[in-house]
Amino acid sequence: MRGRKSKRAKRQEFEQMQAPSLGGVQVPRGNGQTVVRLRHGSSLNDFADKIDANPASLVTVLFHLGEMATANQSLDEDTFATLGTELGYQVEMVSAEEEDRELLGSFSIDLDAELEAESDEDLTARPPVVTVMGHVDHGKTKLLDAIRSTDVVAGEAGGITQHIGAYQVRTVHEGVDRAITFIDTPGHEAFTAMRARGAQVTDIAILVVAADDGVMPQTIEALNHAQAAGVPIVVAVNKVDKEGANPAKIRQQLTEYNLVAEEYGGDTMFVDVSAKQRIGIDELLEAVLLTADAALDLRANPNKDARGVAIEANLDKGRGAVATVLVQSGTLRIGDAVVAGTAHGRVRAMFDEHGVVVPEAGPARPVQVLGLTSVPSAGDTFIVAPDDRTARQIAEKREAAERAALLAKRRKRISLEDFTQALAQGKVETLNLVIKGDVSGAVEALEDALLKIDVGEEVELRVIHRGVGAITQNDVNLATVDNAIILGFNVKFAERVEELADREGVDVRFYSVIYQAIDDVEAALKGMLKPEYEEAQLGTAEVREVFRSSKFGNIAGSLVRSGTIVRNSKARVLRNGKVVGDNLTIESLKRFKDDATEVREGYECGIGLGSFNDLQIDDVIETFEMREKPRN
Ligand code: GDP
Repeated sequence: MRGRKSKRAKRQEFEQMQAPSLGGVQVPRGNGQTVVRLRHGSSLNDFADKIDANPASLVTVLFHLGEMATANQSLDEDTFATLGTELGYQVEMVSAEEEDRELLGSFSIDLDAELEAESDEDLTARPPVVTVMGHVDHGKTKLLDAIRSTDVVAGEAGGITQHIGAYQVRTVHEGVDRAITFIDTPGHEAFTAMRARGAQVTDIAILVVAADDGVMPQTIEALNHAQAAGVPIVVAVNKVDKEGANPAKIRQQLTEYNLVAEEYGGDTMFVDVSAKQRIGIDELLEAVLLTADAALDLRANPNKDARGVAIEANLDKGRGAVATVLVQSGTLRIGDAVVAGTAHGRVRAMFDEHGVVVPEAGPARPVQVLGLTSVPSAGDTFIVAPDDRTARQIAEKREAAERAALLAKRRKRISLEDFTQALAQGKVETLNLVIKGDVSGAVEALEDALLKIDVGEEVELRVIHRGVGAITQNDVNLATVDNAIILGFNVKFAERVEELADREGVDVRFYSVIYQAIDDVEAALKGMLKPEYEEAQLGTAEVREVFRSSKFGNIAGSLVRSGTIVRNSKARVLRNGKVVGDNLTIESLKRFKDDATEVREGYECGIGLGSFNDLQIDDVIETFEMREKPRN
């Protein structure tokens, strides 16, 4: 007896483990604590792999949870969490950063271990990297120009100073020749964009405040960003040459934001400058170095493969992909195999900001690099890989991971309930865009401008992908999946991609003027707007008599009071001015014994309103139709 019972109990237990309640399929279950780690962009196939299940059965389970997905479709975190909970697993999604770390780890590149292994002897002092921020028109650009022109090396090199996204100047500080690196894109937008991508480039921020204008909204924004990033601030009180300049007032104002000048007992250095007349520039550089030395321990190991960040990149007609990278540690050399984001290649040539060839670049040195096969994005980290093959493989894996993550993000999660709901509510319409341009600046400018188009709430505009370079097969594929339109700004199709776009019916538009692109998109959005309808009254009839018919329902013997009563038009019934029946249709209409399609004002007729039988003498039947409202 006992033996039999326990056997049955065991079987029940086993069945419970094997068969989830949903769909009655067999899936190995976890105990609620079992952890499954998945990369972002994973599919049911990947999940099935981890728990040793049949992917098809996971599709079934998910279906019973109200989600439809194919086995190799990328799913988002929430979906996996729901599925995991149902099956007794704790699903942990690996972040893009962690994933990239793991990816590099699989190529035996462990950046954390590398840093940890560095001892004091390995580290040498490196120049600070500075970003200039502040309110518009307070003189950021002018100040960057002034600083650039103080550089003695620039004069000696004789090269024309080019804008490559960053430059280095040298200055003598306490008898020592020191370098400072400046990021040549003023403003906190670039700073924040890079930080959003996980790249902390800036060591010190120069906050420019015009002495004749004072603290303004972007001044506060900039200092908030710097403080949030834990970056020390040096204040440049600019335009002191101007009449009405009041440097003391700036110091006063900024105390409210925890920037207390040294002369007031604080620890922030304020320097009065005139970018225009080049006054106080040396003092400003001095203040930057003093702040760096006091607040930061800026050291890096120059004796290893280079690691850093891409600051700016574009596609040059003659030279191919050109990227300005800031080396953060190690030394970059011509011939190195590099990966920057999803771009890879071998360093073919390197130039400094004067267009002079540099054979190697150490920590905090910005250089323009030629030789990448594609254009990285600003803020992409770059590393030197052991060889070309590894560099290529890392780039390819990153690209695949990025694509998968993008797909997962884009998948519209509509459960069966949501779906009917969304239908009932009149679903939100989305215009998806892919933007490609010749330089990242143009792409960003276009995207910014497009996202500012105001078309009301019914239509949503989404940029699902943006990038620099020709329109590729990948772009067209993305557009196909998501019904997107591709905007090409000063770029063309890559080879053989045009046929693909044609075949897939993807709309690709080319522009060389930003405003044209914006106009077109705006028009497209207006065209896409769902038509708005308004009610147009057709006619009214007064009920004079009610004929009861068990066969046809009640018939209202009526007199048409205004307009025309049209068969099959929409109707409502009013009694003493109140609606007593709505959403009705004139289902039958008769003149005497004959069917009529319409009956005009002043004539009598019999009206049948289908199943609506609550008719009384003196009710008013109002008929109308919905007409599309023109938009302006
Ligand atoms: P940004 O928007 O912060 O980059 O400001 P700009 O560098 O473009 O400068 C804005 C305006 O202020 C320009 O007309 C400059 O010539 C002027 N400006 C900048 N610095 C000074 C200065 O030190 N003194 C005076 N008088 N004008 C300046």
